[in-house]
Amino acid sequence: MLLHEEEILTRVNTLATEIQGVYSTVTELTIVALLNGCLIFAADLLRRLTIPTRLESLSVESYRGATHSSGVVTFKQALPDLRGREVLVVDDILDTGRTLAAVIDQVRQAGAASIRTCVLLKKRRGRAVNVEADFWGFEIDDLFVVGYGLDYAGRLRNLPYIAILQERAD
Ligand code: 5GP
Ligand code: MG
Repeated sequence: MLLHEEEILTRVNTLATEIQGVYSTVTELTIVALLNGCLIFAADLLRRLTIPTRLESLSVESYRGATHSSGVVTFKQALPDLRGREVLVVDDILDTGRTLAAVIDQVRQAGAASIRTCVLLKKRRGRAVNVEADFWGFEIDDLFVVGYGLDYAGRLRNLPYIAILQERAD
């Protein structure tokens, strides 16, 4: 076990407060949630925001059922029209940074007025591309983690806590 459910939810509360502080003067915030990984985090975060908020979701893929990034970010659909919107991109975890960098690029092209990023977890190791999160829940070592939305080959997303995936020695 890396992070207990209570620990995660307490942090999500304070993250929501931080986010609201930064967006207190905007008329509306648009969350762009990166599915499937951030589904549970985004749902918990969203319910703690009291400012006017819109939700868009985007299916992106950078892993191919294994524990290593493919390095290629695939968008499964076109982006919505984001012209003039204050966008907060929400993802589960920041690792190499390729996913966030690719999404930021697309969101910019879709005409967003401002773009910030929020991840529940960020890995301590260096990024492959130059991108950082404006808001993050926890910083973790370079481990493969599962649960609270994060999967291993499509499974284990339903764990209410976050655990380190153990490689079998055999
Ligand atoms: P990046 O593009 O920053 O390398 O990776 C971001 C994406 O890779 C995340 O959205 C997530 O889907 C996946 N990812 C990175 N690290 C982990 C991990 O430790 N566990 C799981 N389940 N997914 C990860
Ligand atoms: Mg993901």
